[in-house]
Amino acid sequence: MFMKIILLGAPGAGKGTQATFLKETFNIPQISTGDMLRSAVEAGSDLGKKAKAFMESGQLVPDQLIIDLVALRVDQADCDNGFLLDGFPRTIPQAEAMKEAKINIDLVIEIKVPDQIIIERLSGRRIHKASGRIYHTKYNPPKIEGLDDETGEPLIIRVDDAKETIMKRLETYHQETEPLAKFYSSWESHSSIESPKFVSIDGTGSSNDINALLSKIISKQ
Ligand code: AMP
Repeated sequence: MFMKIILLGAPGAGKGTQATFLKETFNIPQISTGDMLRSAVEAGSDLGKKAKAFMESGQLVPDQLIIDLVALRVDQADCDNGFLLDGFPRTIPQAEAMKEAKINIDLVIEIKVPDQIIIERLSGRRIHKASGRIYHTKYNPPKIEGLDDETGEPLIIRVDDAKETIMKRLETYHQETEPLAKFYSSWESHSSIESPKFVSIDGTGSSNDINALLSKIISKQ
């Protein structure tokens, strides 16, 4: 079975939501570079200080910072049976660096969602910080407005989910990250032992439907 998996897609395409389901189904860790960076910003570490302004303005943090962070993370023991990368790679140089470091990936899944839907999703997104649970004011509201279903703690809005920042993140996505779909599909077509399988799916359905589809794709391999 494929266990080293990359989820590609725009911010708000559903990578985080799906990764939280899949990590339990397949018992592999979710590696979210966005979450790792947010923790670093909160802790005020060197990495956090370097990353903060980029993140708040909707830009990507410099490649080398992220590459080092991920290389250290996938080397940890809990990644021995696989992992789910959510939010990495996000640029061609990041993908190339992974290839060079021989971090072999089995399966790359692109989740495609049109911009208009992304904008709607991100502007209604609410987060339970401690668990990473993701809600939406309209499409996946909590039982009590503004509060997490399980703990009753308040939900937050991510700083970078502000309207202008959403537009900037989408622009960055189209410029820097979208080309990765081509990168992986053409690598697959020149197939070598290391080339991951590439699958692209429509991410506009309900999160349950997408989850069922992804579980099927992964189990089938
Ligand atoms: P995310 O939670 O995945 O949307 O990431 C939030 C922010 O963290 C992004 O807008 C970037 O500023 C930064 N970030 C996360 N992952 C990466 C990455 N692989 N490369 C560069 N910047 C990243």
